Amino acid sequence: MYRKEQTHKWMERTQTLLQALKKGIPAAVIEELRAVLRFHENRYYILSDPLLSDYAYDQLFKALEKIEKEHPTLIRPDSPTQRVAHELTKEFPTVQHLVPMLSLDNSYNAEDLLDFDRKVRELSGLTAVPYCVEPKFDGGSISLIYENDKLVRAATRGDGVAGDEVTNNIRQIRSVPLTASFSTCGIKQAEIRGEVLMNKENFNGYNQHLTAQGLVPLANPRNAASGTLRLKDPREVAKRNLEVFVYHLSYFSLQKEEQWPLALQSHAATLGLLWELGFRSPEHEKIVFSTIQEVIDYCTAFEATRDALPYEIDGMVIKVNEVAVQEKLGMTSHHPRWAVAYKFKARQATTQLIGIEFQVGRTGAVTPVAKLEPVAVGGVMVSSISVHNQEYIAEKDLRIGDQVLIERAGDVIPQIVKSLTEARSGKEKPIEFPSVCPVCASKLFKEEEEAVWRCINTECPAQIVERIIHFVSKDALDIRGFGEANVRKFVELGLLHDIPGIYTLDFTQIATLEGFGKKSIDNLQQAIELSKKQPLHRLIYALGIRYVGETTARTLANAVTHLLDFQQFTEEQLQQLEDVGTKVAGSIFQFFSNAEHIALLQRLEKLGLTLRNEKKASPASGSLIGKTFLFTGTLSKLKRSEAEEMVRTHGGQLLSGVSAKLNYLVAGEEAGSKVEKAKKNPSIHIINEQEFINLLGK
Ligand code: AMP
Ligand code: ZN
Repeated sequence: MYRKEQTHKWMERTQTLLQALKKGIPAAVIEELRAVLRFHENRYYILSDPLLSDYAYDQLFKALEKIEKEHPTLIRPDSPTQRVAHELTKEFPTVQHLVPMLSLDNSYNAEDLLDFDRKVRELSGLTAVPYCVEPKFDGGSISLIYENDKLVRAATRGDGVAGDEVTNNIRQIRSVPLTASFSTCGIKQAEIRGEVLMNKENFNGYNQHLTAQGLVPLANPRNAASGTLRLKDPREVAKRNLEVFVYHLSYFSLQKEEQWPLALQSHAATLGLLWELGFRSPEHEKIVFSTIQEVIDYCTAFEATRDALPYEIDGMVIKVNEVAVQEKLGMTSHHPRWAVAYKFKARQATTQLIGIEFQVGRTGAVTPVAKLEPVAVGGVMVSSISVHNQEYIAEKDLRIGDQVLIERAGDVIPQIVKSLTEARSGKEKPIEFPSVCPVCASKLFKEEEEAVWRCINTECPAQIVERIIHFVSKDALDIRGFGEANVRKFVELGLLHDIPGIYTLDFTQIATLEGFGKKSIDNLQQAIELSKKQPLHRLIYALGIRYVGETTARTLANAVTHLLDFQQFTEEQLQQLEDVGTKVAGSIFQFFSNAEHIALLQRLEKLGLTLRNEKKASPASGSLIGKTFLFTGTLSKLKRSEAEEMVRTHGGQLLSGVSAKLNYLVAGEEAGSKVEKAKKNPSIHIINEQEFINLLGK
């Protein structure tokens, strides 16, 4: 129980342990140590309001590990050290639920809710029924069983009667307590229902990671959460940072049969109890309403805030608050009569797949893009969706002419969920993947471990266009007024053939084109001239070397005094650089081993571009020299890009991920997995935005 005892008492207990650290915490107080660690885990993972520095937490955690190592007989499965599993799961056995996991009846508008309320009042014989209203979390449902205060089993919903046992995977989720003192209210065994979620930030990050690996991104956070629960390696599950919300106590048995615990007489009170016991449950204080009209208003207001939530919800769930009334109403074989889901506007739609267009990217990758009969999804018109690669098309069994279900979750790029195979007429055509480039007709190639086919003709017009577009883009050389449309037009008209051509454009010809007055030509000329003086890292990024993003480009720029110095670097030397792994090093090495690329760089230098690292010549200065930084979450005072620029101008360096080389992780609001990862390393300072600003002042 975390909130019953006052926080200052917990802090006193924490202090006592921290003081004991110097002499070594005796094995005799192991349970006290565990209790204190659990309290702080709750503050961190459930309340997102830690009271202890990461460093101090780690010290206590290590002390516990040490005692357990020295006295293995004291290890208990619910110890905070015991989440980590090292063995792969062989299978997920099917287990019966103590109580069937039913569906919910659906409602879509105020009318439906008024109907629901009418029926509830009729059946219960009451004139007014208070309701509890919660978000309908859009993840995977799970059941958790606690016996004598310990988590003993976790299972997926399955067919509602029996599901898959996934206990080891659920143990990796930090918002699920391994122990919870149900016994304090007389409960011996309890089954709890909840939803496993992947929050939007983690989901987007995970998809980015998949796409960077040439793998197929997932359609929505719900699939990501359910899929993660089925991973055989619990350590992988731990990395995905899932979260669990619990919303129902579906079964319990009492130590002494006689009395029904007071805390369980209403749904809101049950949620409150679960919260007390250390679970993450919906806010229980503000969600009880005495009339259906208030329920309707609350649901409408909540829908407006949907996108601002860190995780996906697809509606609200309205539940009769009094447990006695719930029992009176009972359930059908499909759903309880005392609850109803209020579904938000769908973010799914069905439409027809009318064709496939193959687009050739800057690196020659050929991406199939599904052309759709335009349809509105969640307020946005969608007419084309990337379908990634051949494997993806095969896996989803997509055919031209198919009706497809598409989804646009929150801030996520629309995806095809599936094709509705049952709606086929037989006239649908399989999608044929070209064997030659749709633009230059040269043969396509695919690397063994990759899913994408590539055009490897470096002269391929499609690639040239995309490369030039990237070169002039905002984050690269930022040639204002050039833009995608102009690049395409100039290339089409034969005025531009390659990157150096940007600097030798024939403006007398351009002046004859429609839409190019003197003013716009002057501006364009000026922007091109300015781009020659852009710092080296921008040029490196502009070159579009595979796997070299903006951060790596900066690292590279800082490593040399002249760009062509990279010709002397071995792959091993490249790997010594910050954040450069084998794959990235290999790609950079290849780039600088290619005579054509060297010739390109020499030409650019002749045309007046800066290949020298101007800053490197003068020794770096600033208060952050030698310090590395990473930002996560949303900052409130500064923009992320501003903050990053401040790090650089003060001589600090930015990293792209949490690693042993990181000195400061600046955590804004709703910071996610990076903080958890950084917490594991005591040498990383986790600071907030204000502390960061203070640091600059020094
Ligand atoms: P459905 O799958 O549409 O029949 O809806 C039922 C499912 O909604 C349950 O199995 C739960 O997984 C899920 N759900 C999400 N949030 C809640 C909540 N607050 N209360 C009850 N069920 C919920
Ligand atoms: Zn081609």
